[in-house]
Amino acid sequence: MSEEEHGPSTDMPSFTATLKSSKRIIAVAGAGLSAASGIPTFRGAGGLWRRYDAMGLATPEAFHAKPSRVWQFYHYRREKALAAQPNPGHLALAMFSIPSIRQKMAPGSSFSLITQNVDGLSRKALEQIADAHPELADEIHSPVVQDSMLEMHGRLFDVVCTNRACGHREYNTNSPVCPALAGTEKVFSENEPEPRIDEEDLPRCSKCDSLARPGVVWFGETPWYLDKIDRLVSEADLCIVVGTSSTVYPAAGYAYEVQERGGKVAVFNLDRSEGDQEADYLFLGPAEVTLPKALGLQ
Ligand code: NAD
Ligand code: ZN
Repeated sequence: MSEEEHGPSTDMPSFTATLKSSKRIIAVAGAGLSAASGIPTFRGAGGLWRRYDAMGLATPEAFHAKPSRVWQFYHYRREKALAAQPNPGHLALAMFSIPSIRQKMAPGSSFSLITQNVDGLSRKALEQIADAHPELADEIHSPVVQDSMLEMHGRLFDVVCTNRACGHREYNTNSPVCPALAGTEKVFSENEPEPRIDEEDLPRCSKCDSLARPGVVWFGETPWYLDKIDRLVSEADLCIVVGTSSTVYPAAGYAYEVQERGGKVAVFNLDRSEGDQEADYLFLGPAEVTLPKALGLQ
């Protein structure tokens, strides 16, 4: 038998039928979901910021060693995310998270979006739908929908105190996040010196004035909502994987866990990704095109 006969299905009507009969659906999203909104991914062309590996900057060690550089990196990412708009992939997942809409494609189902993205675009998508469809606003703002969106790696717009005794966290969409970072988001040429910002001029805690840090989950830190996510993964009968290289754990293991328990896995990615040959469905191409079609929201 050829490899193709063993590989994942690419049949959209068959996926639609699976979606219709699924009762506990989860989606696991990664940076690829936001690529069409102009937010760089960590792998491939988007993986370098200035001359640094983006993943090397997303660690507590990097922040302790060079808070100025790491804040410049996060300031750059905050500015990008502030200017970005949700794309049809975000909007399709947001629509699908509204029970009265989802009933048409997957009657009687529950749905949660587990996203590794910190850019807030999935929430922005929900807000845009609420604005455009006032009749859906109450449902969108209900806990059922709001709590179904799990930003497991935190949020770019949270600013958190580094003093453990304080730990104050606040949502802050100021642009720039502090005056000293203004302008440092621009692209520097190789031989231009990196701006150096004194620690006192970096974002400070509004309660105790200690150095503040971005409220995201760095490599080596514990993701948010793990208990809830574990429960959702253990109960899921369909896992939709969108725009993730499936190399960052624990998220990379969720699809496998669902499949182990007899659930189905559908991967939506621009290119081949880790473990996708094991998926039940594989839709290669931009998620902003494939996802709205697959979820019947086009
Ligand atoms: P990744 O950068 O490792 O992988 C991105 C994946 O998206 C790749 O497999 C790529 O083929 C795919 N892709 C690119 N464009 C796509 C498109 N238009 N449609 C569908 N797929 C597309 O991202 P990751 O797996 O999320 O892991 C990186 C880590 O970095 C995560 O932990 C995440 O928190 C963080 N991160 C977040 C953001 C964000 O918030 N937008 C951006 C970069 C990195
Ligand atoms: Zn504080």
